[in-house]
Amino acid sequence: MTGAEHATGEQCARCDAVRDVDDPATALTWSREREPGDAGPGRSLCPSCVRAHTRDIEARLAPSWWAPPQR
Ligand SMILES: [Zn+2]
Repeated sequence: MTGAEHATGEQCARCDAVRDVDDPATALTWSREREPGDAGPGRSLCPSCVRAHTRDIEARLAPSWWAPPQR
Protein backbone atom coordinates (compact mmCIF):
# COMPACT_ATOMS: atom_id res chain seq x y z
CA MET A 1 0.00 0.00 0.00
CA THR A 2 1.00 3.62 -0.31
CA GLY A 3 0.35 4.73 3.23
CA ALA A 4 -3.08 6.12 2.41
CA GLU A 5 -4.66 3.74 4.87
CA HIS A 6 -6.02 5.16 8.06
CA ALA A 7 -3.86 4.47 11.05
CA THR A 8 -6.88 4.16 13.32
CA GLY A 9 -10.30 2.79 12.73
CA GLU A 10 -11.54 0.80 9.81
CA GLN A 11 -13.15 1.88 6.62
CA CYS A 12 -16.43 0.65 5.26
CA ALA A 13 -15.93 -1.59 2.25
CA ARG A 14 -19.01 -0.11 0.59
CA CYS A 15 -19.21 3.59 1.40
CA ASP A 16 -15.72 4.36 2.78
CA ALA A 17 -17.14 5.59 6.07
CA VAL A 18 -14.49 5.51 8.78
CA ARG A 19 -15.20 3.65 11.98
CA ASP A 20 -15.13 5.89 15.01
CA VAL A 21 -13.14 3.89 17.53
CA ASP A 22 -13.92 6.45 20.21
CA ASP A 23 -17.60 5.58 20.04
CA PRO A 24 -17.92 1.99 21.28
CA ALA A 25 -21.68 1.90 20.84
CA THR A 26 -21.33 2.68 17.16
CA ALA A 27 -18.12 0.76 16.67
CA LEU A 28 -19.76 -2.42 17.95
CA THR A 29 -22.40 -2.25 15.25
CA TRP A 30 -19.81 -2.55 12.53
CA SER A 31 -19.57 -5.92 10.90
CA ARG A 32 -16.55 -7.74 9.59
CA GLU A 33 -16.88 -10.41 6.99
CA ARG A 34 -14.45 -12.51 5.06
CA GLU A 35 -14.91 -14.08 1.69
CA PRO A 36 -14.13 -17.80 1.44
CA GLY A 37 -10.48 -18.22 0.50
CA ASP A 38 -9.64 -14.66 1.45
CA ALA A 39 -6.63 -14.73 3.74
CA GLY A 40 -6.79 -10.98 4.34
CA PRO A 41 -8.34 -9.11 7.23
CA GLY A 42 -11.74 -9.25 5.57
CA ARG A 43 -14.09 -6.40 4.85
CA SER A 44 -15.66 -4.05 7.31
CA LEU A 45 -19.17 -2.68 6.90
CA CYS A 46 -20.57 0.37 8.64
CA PRO A 47 -23.91 0.06 10.46
CA SER A 48 -25.95 1.51 7.63
CA CYS A 49 -24.29 -0.74 5.07
CA VAL A 50 -24.75 -3.72 7.37
CA ARG A 51 -28.46 -3.08 7.28
CA ALA A 52 -28.48 -2.74 3.51
CA HIS A 53 -26.22 -5.75 3.17
CA THR A 54 -28.43 -7.85 5.43
CA ARG A 55 -31.40 -6.96 3.29
CA ASP A 56 -29.44 -8.04 0.23
CA ILE A 57 -28.69 -11.37 1.84
CA GLU A 58 -32.27 -11.91 2.91
CA ALA A 59 -33.53 -10.96 -0.51
CA ARG A 60 -31.34 -13.63 -2.03
CA LEU A 61 -32.76 -16.40 0.09
CA ALA A 62 -34.86 -18.88 -1.79
CA PRO A 63 -38.61 -18.44 -1.31
CA SER A 64 -38.69 -21.90 0.24
CA TRP A 65 -36.54 -20.58 3.07
CA TRP A 66 -39.40 -18.35 4.13
CA ALA A 67 -42.08 -20.97 3.70
CA PRO A 68 -43.42 -22.71 6.79
CA PRO A 69 -42.23 -26.28 7.36
CA GLN A 70 -43.94 -28.81 5.16
CA ARG A 71 -46.07 -31.34 6.93
ZN1 LIG B 1 -20.85 1.88 4.72
